[in-house]
Amino acid sequence: MSDEAILIGGSSGVAGSKQYKCAECDVDVWIAPSGQRTLATYLFPMRILCFICGLLSIASNPDPKIQPIQAEQLREIEQHLRRN
Ligand SMILES: [Zn+2]
Repeated sequence: MSDEAILIGGSSGVAGSKQYKCAECDVDVWIAPSGQRTLATYLFPMRILCFICGLLSIASNPDPKIQPIQAEQLREIEQHLRRN
């Protein structure tokens, strides 16, 4: 379980986001285009979690590895902030 890959969804929609369900608590989450690309190209199964379940998963992992933010994610965040 500790090497399991997770993708944490957001609660509001960056342009082009798709709606998914948290694999733990079934709440609706949104995955931006950069995350959708990660899901499509990652070589191993990846669980989608909401922010709370994602934090709990990270906290329960003795050696979590968190991927640094990517340039595409920064652009999405910047565009989202400019629109709102
Ligand atoms: Zn959840």
